[in-house]
Amino acid sequence: MPNGKPEGGIEKHGEGKERFFSPARSPEDMKIRPVSLDGFIGQERLREKLAVYIQAARGRGEPLDHALFYGPPGLGKTTLAGIIAHEMGGQLRVTTGPALERAGDLAAIVSNVEPGDVLFIDEIHRLPAQVEEILYPVMEDFALHIVLGKGPLAKTLTLTLPRFTLCGATTRLGLLTSPLRARFGIVEQLSLYGEAELTAIVERGSASFGVEISREAAEEIARRSRGTPRVALRLLRRVRDVAAVKGEGAITAALARRAMDMMEIDPDGLDDGDRRILRAITGSGGPVGLATLSAALNEDARTIEDIYEPYLIQMGFLERTPRGRRATANGYARMGITPPEDWVRNMPLFTSEEEEEES
Ligand code: ADP
Repeated sequence: MPNGKPEGGIEKHGEGKERFFSPARSPEDMKIRPVSLDGFIGQERLREKLAVYIQAARGRGEPLDHALFYGPPGLGKTTLAGIIAHEMGGQLRVTTGPALERAGDLAAIVSNVEPGDVLFIDEIHRLPAQVEEILYPVMEDFALHIVLGKGPLAKTLTLTLPRFTLCGATTRLGLLTSPLRARFGIVEQLSLYGEAELTAIVERGSASFGVEISREAAEEIARRSRGTPRVALRLLRRVRDVAAVKGEGAITAALARRAMDMMEIDPDGLDDGDRRILRAITGSGGPVGLATLSAALNEDARTIEDIYEPYLIQMGFLERTPRGRRATANGYARMGITPPEDWVRNMPLFTSEEEEEES
């Protein structure tokens, strides 16, 4: 990490203060992961489908097809890989795309997998091309081709691997090459969670931390969690710290509110970074390109796209247009700014057909 940026580079901080929605995982995250599909809260349809696929694979005595999960960080992609391993009676092995720099790195990992294991590759869209090529026959035929030596004397050695499940995760499906994408039998999107699901996740988290929490407090934390379980659990940990320091055993709604206000997480979950983005866009009046936004805020473009935008869009404060990012009427209202006069006219909301219908 020569420039102080963690691997993956999506954790660039302007102010050096803790980001509640940073993609980094804490050791406690690992401890409180649900191990079975029943313990996985929300994502109903995905869970139902996976339950069927797992049952069918088990019935055939085969590992589950390779699975690709995509969606913003912290929504449970790693957790699902762990659940698949558990349900299939195998072990979870975790690595990331950028960590597999050379063919040998992948060979070292796959030659150690056992039948039924799950190999989880996070940020799979960042796999180097030469490693990706070796992965194709591994995924298709469980055959690892190793080239020994160079030039005319080079020999290819083929190793037959046990059958396992490869689980890939990415925040951007669009960045995956099509040959890689085509080799996954299961491709599923994870979407942001609703308040009721996050409340259940917070309550479940409190139970495993051994802290008491009122329903209202859990809801308060859920509301400020940007639809993301990892953020919810991280907020819960900080609120728990405040409760411990203030000597209050249980977490009440008043305490949760006070703690989160102190962390400058506002009632709809926006933090300082979100407000800076909205301020920059509403301040400019018109659509703003990603590169301009990134330069103006000194924030990594990927962080803006992967972490801030999905939530700002879901909250109805921001929208992507062909000409850049724009604040919506709600976004302007949220910042207490009146939209510029030509704002409605500039809004490419209607296609020409719709415009005709409107008139
Ligand atoms: P991702 O791999 O998508 O970044 P993780 O699987 O690491 O996300 O999940 C982050 C944290 O949130 C973990 O501690 C996990 O226990 C928790 N979590 C995620 N999804 C759920 C869920 N559906 N139910 C309960 N806990 C969840």
